[in-house]
Order: sequence, then structure tokens, then C-alpha cells
Amino acid sequence: MNAPFIRNHQYNFIKSQANAVLHAHRTVSDPKVVESVRFGAQAKVAELFPDVADQRKSLLDSVAELKTAEDVQQYFLSLEPYLLAFPTVTEAQLRKLFPKNKKLKLPDLSLIDFRYVSYLTWDDLATNKKFIVYPRGGQLVGVEGRYNATNKKNFCFVCNRFEELTLYTAITKKRPANASPDYYNSVGNYLCKNGHDCNGNMTDIAPLERFLDSVLG
Ligand SMILES: [Zn+2]
Repeated sequence: MNAPFIRNHQYNFIKSQANAVLHAHRTVSDPKVVESVRFGAQAKVAELFPDVADQRKSLLDSVAELKTAEDVQQYFLSLEPYLLAFPTVTEAQLRKLFPKNKKLKLPDLSLIDFRYVSYLTWDDLATNKKFIVYPRGGQLVGVEGRYNATNKKNFCFVCNRFEELTLYTAITKKRPANASPDYYNSVGNYLCKNGHDCNGNMTDIAPLERFLDSVLG
């Protein structure tokens, strides 16, 4: 059973728990406290995968056995074969997601390691557009929004980390029942300027999915 089952945000979560265990070993002298961090990490990781059994479960559980930086590196490497990559996507598929954008600028897909992608994102610097593509309920969806630099650090709405942000605004496709033809409403959020970093940070997919719901209906 070598089937991949760990999504990028879950991998990030496991990494944060492994690092917490390592940190406890390094900084805490009370063995009882270290033990509670170790088994707390194990329980939190297990909670993410209630249906996982066999050797994959023992692999996840071994987060509690990590002691050194080398152990942690080895642990991350041993998880890699189980990473569930972002679905394969072609340039043609991306164009279909943004049919109204005739001059759509696309990312170089060959440069992306899709194992570490929860949401595919790229910028068009010329037009200040930021694109987000996400497999929502098994189907790829796309959001085209505008970004404005804030030149400030604060908490990103997707990854909840303190990062340099842009204000990202998208027009929602949801319309009230009696909306006039020129009705539009926009949704704005503070989002990491660097999408690669954001994907490397995020440990929960729910905030992004809520945003996509609010834009796409
Ligand atoms: Zn972020």
C-alpha cells in the first residue's frame, strides 16, 4: 500500500508537529512535558487521518519518536512518497478556466513541483492580476482577481502566517435574486504576496475553500 494520501496542507501540518517535538527536546528539561508534546503531536497527526491503517499509520505515529534534526529530516523524506500531488493540469485546461481573458498569462507548469501545491497561483505583473486554481470537490475552478501591494507584513487569510501581503480582490459571481444587470460585489482579503511561500505555510484548507465559496457561489 504505497498509495499517496497526504495533501500538501496536511504535510505542512505534520512538519509543524515534528518541529514542535524537536523543539521540545531541545528546550524543555522536564521529561513529562516533552512526553506530552510527543504524544500530543502523535494524536494531532492521527486525527488528520482517521481511516489510515497499516504501515502508513506507524509511519505517521513515529512523529513521537523524533529526537534530532537528522531524525526529522529522515521523517520528512519517508513521508514524501505518500504526498498526494495537485491534479495534473495542462495550459489548455487553465485557459478554459478563464475563457474571458484573451491575453491570459500562464505560469511555466514545468517549473512547479505539484506535490507541494494546495492551490496553484500566479501573477500577471502587467495587469496586477492574480490567478488562483483549486480542485474544488474534484473539479478545477479558477478565480481571477486583482492584487494591490500593501508593503506590509500581517496575517494571511489562507495560511494565517505573518507574511508580506497583498490585498486580493475578486468579483463574486453570486448575485441576489433581484439584482440589476450591472450589479456586482467584490470580496477582498489579505493574501501572501508570494504564493509559493503561502503553499508552504498552509496547514488548513478551510479558509481558502470558504473564500472560493464566497466568490464562486
Ligand atoms: Zn499565505
